Order: sequence, then C-alpha cells, then structure tokens
Amino acid sequence: MGGKHSLGMSRRGFMTMATGGAVALAASGGQSAAQPVRSNARIVIMGAGAGGASMANRLVRRLEGAQITVIDGRAEHWYQPGFTLIGAGLRPAGYAVTKTTDWLPQGIDFIADYVTEIDPDAHRVTTRGGQRIDYDYLIVASGTVLDWDAIEGFDMALVGPEHGISAHYASPEIAELSARALDRFTDMGGVGLFGRPATELKCAGAPVKMCFLAEDMADRKGTRERAQFIFNAQTDNLFGLGVVHHRVRQFMEERDIGYRFSHVLKAIDPATKVATFATPQGDVRTDYDFINVVPPQRAAPAIREAGLSDPERWVDQGWLHVDRNTLRHMRYPNIFGLGDINGVPRGKTAASVKWHLPVVEDHLIADMQGLEGTRQFCGYTSCPLITRVGRALLVEFNFTENLHQSFPGIVSPLEELWISWAMKVFALRPT
Ligand SMILES: Cc1cc2nc3c(=O)[nH]c(=O)nc-3n(C[C@H](O)[C@H](O)[C@H](O)COP(=O)(O)OP(=O)(O)OC[C@H]3O[C@@H](n4cnc5c(N)ncnc54)[C@H](O)[C@@H]3O)c2cc1C
Repeated sequence: MGGKHSLGMSRRGFMTMATGGAVALAASGGQSAAQPVRSNARIVIMGAGAGGASMANRLVRRLEGAQITVIDGRAEHWYQPGFTLIGAGLRPAGYAVTKTTDWLPQGIDFIADYVTEIDPDAHRVTTRGGQRIDYDYLIVASGTVLDWDAIEGFDMALVGPEHGISAHYASPEIAELSARALDRFTDMGGVGLFGRPATELKCAGAPVKMCFLAEDMADRKGTRERAQFIFNAQTDNLFGLGVVHHRVRQFMEERDIGYRFSHVLKAIDPATKVATFATPQGDVRTDYDFINVVPPQRAAPAIREAGLSDPERWVDQGWLHVDRNTLRHMRYPNIFGLGDINGVPRGKTAASVKWHLPVVEDHLIADMQGLEGTRQFCGYTSCPLITRVGRALLVEFNFTENLHQSFPGIVSPLEELWISWAMKVFALRPT
C-alpha cells in the first residue's frame, strides 16, 4: 500500500512485535483466538456509534500496549434500527437509548467531544473543545449528518401531532413524537406523504418501511378508506435493486399506496400544510395532513474540510474516499472508514458495519506489522424491509446486482415472512 503518508518500516517495526505465530494469522484477518499483537501505536476512533464502539472492543482484544482513543460527543448511544419501530408507535423512545460509555471497553481513553478538525498530514485531530490528539492510525466512524436545514420550512419543534409532521430519523424522542403524529393521522385520515432524499442515506429502506407500517396501522384501525398514502421516490425506482423495486411496487399497488418517481422534498409550509417537491418538470406542490420528513445526509464537516472526501462522487455529500474493498483511505493509508461514512456504493446499514469490522481490523493490524491485509468488503447490506406489523422481507445484497442469502432454504428474501420481522425486531438489537 505505502502512499506518501504510510508509516515507514522502522516505525512499524518499532510499533509492533507480534507474539508467537500470531503474525500470519493476524495478517489474514485472524479471529480473536489469535494471540494479541503487541504495539504502541496510537489509534484514534472518531465516533462511538455502532461501528466505533464495536471496533474499540475488537482492538482491545487484538492489541497489547496500543493507545486507543475514542472520541464522540454524544453521551447517548442510539440503536437506530429501533427508530422505525418507535416512529410507528411500536416501541417507546427508551428502547433505543443506552449510554455510550456502556459500550466502550476498559483500557481505552474516551473523549466526550466532537472532532472538528482533521489534519491528515500532521496525523492529528482537534476537538470542539480545542483538545489535540495525535494518531498513527485514524478510524473514521462518524456516521451521517442529517441536513434538516435543507428542507425549507422544517423545524424540529414542529414534529408531532399538532402539525402532522414526523421525523423519525432524528432521535428516539423525536421518533416518539413522530409516532403521535402518525397515530393522529391514522385516526383522522387525510393525505400522508412519505419519501426519501436524493442523497445516500442510512437504511435506505427505512422510509418505505414507515410508509408500509402507516398503511397497515390505518388498516388495523379500520380508517384505511379515509387515508391516502403517497410515497415519493428520488429517482425512477422504489428501491435501488431492481428485483426489490418490483416487489415493493407490487405491494404498493396491491395496497393502493400511490407512488411518484423523481419527487424530492425541498420545502414544507406547516401553516398551510403544503409540501414542495423538486421534479424534473419543476416544483410540484402537494397538500398533506401527515408528512414523514427524511432529510439529505452528508459526511461530518471535519471530513469534507480535511479533503478526505471522494473528489468525484457524491461531491455534495462528502463521503470518505476509501477503497471499496479494503475500506482504506485512497490517499492516506493510515486512515480507515467504518460504517455509514464510507464512500462506497452500498453498505449504509448496521448489518454492513458487522462486515466492515473484520476488514478494517485485518488491514490495520497487518499494516502495523509491515504486512498487507487480505480481507475484502463485498458490499454486504441488509434491510429487513418491514411490510406490515409482524411481516418483513429480509433483503440482503452486495456490490453485485444479485440478492445475497444468509439463510437459503429458510428465508426467502422476497417473501413477506414473520421470521424476517423477528430478525429485525428481536435479533438485530442484541447482534
Ligand atoms: C430510522 C433508521 C432505521 C434503520 N434501520 C436499520 C435496519 O433495520 N438495519 C440496519 O442494519 N441498519 C439500520 N439503520 C442504519 C444503522 O443505524 C446505521 O447504519 C449504523 O448505525 C451505522 O453505524 P456507524 O457507526 O457508521 O454510525 P452511527 O451508529 O450513526 O454512529 C456515528 C457516531 O459518530 C458520532 N459522531 C458524529 N460526528 C462526529 C464527530 N465530528 N466527532 C466524533 N464523533 C462524531 C455520533 O455522535 C455517533 O455516535 C437504520 C438507521 C435509521 C436512522
């Protein structure tokens, strides 16, 4: 690998001294059964969400003597796949909330602050509070930033039943307020608008799930005939994978859920309850009684300002410019990306994080030993696409156009199954 910022062999040799025969195993992405690798490397993990917290735990087990610093300003750890259930009123806000520090292992330094500056040439990050931390390796795991300001007229204070506004991506508490808005809408009826932004987004299926759950809820309450549902897709499909798009369209048609292509929400007027969508033919205004707002998503400013973003793709979003198989930065080999921050065509799900982890660990530890890692990320992405309460499709895919099947013969990906729902509701959280 060895770009201009790669650590030289002498530094590597100084930093690591693998014990026994662990070197070969570690280089091939050996499992935690491998003997710990001795190292005095300084590793900074930016973000302690699903990816950052898991990585800290793995590295503590794999390394002996390394100085691991985790930086995250959010005291609460959010289990975000739970937000869909909270936003539909199926779980309380507390379901998704634990303390960040509960997930972090002994033997690391935790800084409760946000990284505001990265100097990839000096190998240094600076926090909002002005603390400077030097690193030998940086693991960026800062997730996505939700750009609520991009939706003109939207204000978080408006979320709830009074204005018919839902914003379940925002936080557990806001998801709970969103559930109250949905409850009112499914009591009263009217027009319900759903949709997704034009940017990449975490769990791209979540806006569709919310639409399906809302329709199911009205159906169960016996108010379905009073309510109209419209899903607004940002492009010419309802899901990025063709075969899933067709299945989702089939469900929508069977259940009389309307859908519109190339409609991107740009503004809402809470006073008149009118939403404005950008379309190729110009702006389209639609009256609503309930709207589920899912905003555009981007990389944290520190990443974009440090010049670490992909310069050619997703330029307005700034995702970390990594090799899609090794998750290693294209220009700074001592920087890795983990989770949603990565500029790769798939993989903004918690399930993908689980597949990122061994890859990043392998390449990081191999590099410390002057070796090349071998593990590759295949693009694994999984979306338990809830179709109604108690039913889901377990959609899994990778960088190819084919569906991936973890449970062939047991879980059929395009069939509405209770077991797929159970995986989302009962299995994903402990995993
Ligand atoms: C509504 C919804 C439904 C979802 N459903 C599913 C699902 O069904 N299945 C699934 O697999 N995934 C789902 N996801 C996606 C899943 O939650 C994410 O893919 C996963 O959390 C990504 O992990 P991450 O570590 O990259 O980011 P996160 O878990 O978001 O963690 C990022 C962390 O970085 C911190 N951070 C941000 N900026 C900085 C900074 N400048 N300095 C330091 N720290 C910073 C944040 O405070 C946060 O703690 C869903 C997400 C949402 C919102």
